[in-house]
Amino acid sequence: MFSLRNIVKLKYLFISVIALAFVLSTLVGVYSNYKGNLKLMQEQTLENNRVYALKLAETVDKFIVHATNTMRYSAEQIGYNFNNMNELQEEAKRLYIQGDTFSSVLIVDAEDNIMVNAPQKLGEAGKKVLSLEGLENYNKYEPFISDPFISPTGRKLIVISMPIYDEQGIFKGVLSGNIYLYESNIFESILGQHPYENGSYVYVVDTQGEIIYHPNKARLGEDASENEDVVRLLNEKQGALTFVNTLDQPMLAGFSQSEKTRWGIIVQTPYDAALSMVWQQVVSVFKIGLPFIIFSTIIVFILASQIVRPLEKIAEISGDSVKEQEMNKLKDIRAWYYEVYKIQKALIHSFSILHGKVNTLKEETTTDSLTKLLNRHTFEEKIKVLTVQKKDYTLVMLDVDWFKSINDTYGHVKGDEVLQALASKLKESLKENELACRYGGEEFILVFTETTVEEAYERVESLQEKVLQIISPAGEKLTFSAGISNYPLHGDQLKDIIVKADEALYKAKENGRNRVEVTNA
Ligand code: GH3
Ligand code: MG
Ligand code: MG
Repeated sequence: MFSLRNIVKLKYLFISVIALAFVLSTLVGVYSNYKGNLKLMQEQTLENNRVYALKLAETVDKFIVHATNTMRYSAEQIGYNFNNMNELQEEAKRLYIQGDTFSSVLIVDAEDNIMVNAPQKLGEAGKKVLSLEGLENYNKYEPFISDPFISPTGRKLIVISMPIYDEQGIFKGVLSGNIYLYESNIFESILGQHPYENGSYVYVVDTQGEIIYHPNKARLGEDASENEDVVRLLNEKQGALTFVNTLDQPMLAGFSQSEKTRWGIIVQTPYDAALSMVWQQVVSVFKIGLPFIIFSTIIVFILASQIVRPLEKIAEISGDSVKEQEMNKLKDIRAWYYEVYKIQKALIHSFSILHGKVNTLKEETTTDSLTKLLNRHTFEEKIKVLTVQKKDYTLVMLDVDWFKSINDTYGHVKGDEVLQALASKLKESLKENELACRYGGEEFILVFTETTVEEAYERVESLQEKVLQIISPAGEKLTFSAGISNYPLHGDQLKDIIVKADEALYKAKENGRNRVEVTNA
């Protein structure tokens, strides 16, 4: 039957658990790294954008201050030579060209007539200026920075104007520099050069919440006053927030207001860009860690197999068999930690007990219980092996003389003791690999190897002498008669050899007992 325990091994279980632990801890590591970095990246991006917006607002303010100063200086110069048209024209041209600040420059007289303009192709000279009149807070006698407005020619622009006074302090006219907002202008170079290449961009709203600068020209002029962060910006001057833009993209925005223009400058980064940066970071951290992960995995796998190996061996040996030679293998296992050491000890202990039992059982089945000599069955098995191996042997069959009378006179128990004493004398007379068997009640067979019939005869005679030393219960001398035959001299089958020895024994009995006879067949 299919069963998991036949195929699932500790080693694989162990390795799987370790692998699982590795995968889980890596996942947890990656996830927490990702989460932590995401939060950090979000905060950092918001802060970066806030600081960057602040910087840009400062830059815009610096630019406005610089432009105003330049115009103040120019207005002063012009005031001294207001009647010199050439000089006026030169100064207007210089202001227009210099610094790429203004889209156009005008010099207007006290009656608002345009005296000179740069670039000259505008051809405004001689016309009356209408536009500035309508602007809120406009005072031509004071320096002025306009909010963005639409000129009569349909251009969105801001104007920086500076009154012109002569040496006597008499108002002569106005110097004004225009910056067209929807065309290439100075703000584009200030705001367009974004240092981040992650989809971040900058846009600018005026005090009304109208977009006056945006890298996507299509959005210029759009009313952004509905936008949450624009509203906040108009109220808060500077800060950072996360919001969803009109295209449904989550954005990380920093904002700041320019002091001079009160424009709101917004720097925003798509949330996805921050997210992908975090992913890149996580991936690079993972890549750095990968060799270490691989290395430690290998180390752990090696350690795991070291831990599992002794158990595997124990399982193998115990499963194999409980043979005695396996015991040594069991002892050889390097039990280097507690549990294995305990199991090994317990197994060795129980196997030893088991082997003890098995040995006893074996003995019981192979030997005769009274005399501890081979029983007839085992003797036949053993001698068959000799026959197969074609090993010569001389077989002695012997029978105790007058044994019945010992039994009759002293009882069976005494008779048994005599048999045991005889058996031990028989055993003593054997050389290595020779056999002694209790063949019947008080009949025994000895098998001598590498022994000629003559030698066997002599050995049996000396055995008779030794047996004489056994003191029988009656004090009489114990004797036996024996018959000898030889393989292969007297037959090539065991049973023939036994029959021949038995016949010789019978002859010995006939001839008066306490004798040895060799078969004559
Ligand atoms: P002999 O051989 O000299 O002709 O005379 P015997 O008296 O020895 O006669 P036999 O060999 O026929 O007698 C065998 C006797 O051995 C019969 C039986 O009572 C006895 N005997 C057989 N087995 C045992 C045994 O296990 N214990 C004891 N005490 N006696 C046994
Ligand atoms: Mg007998
Ligand atoms: Mg007998």
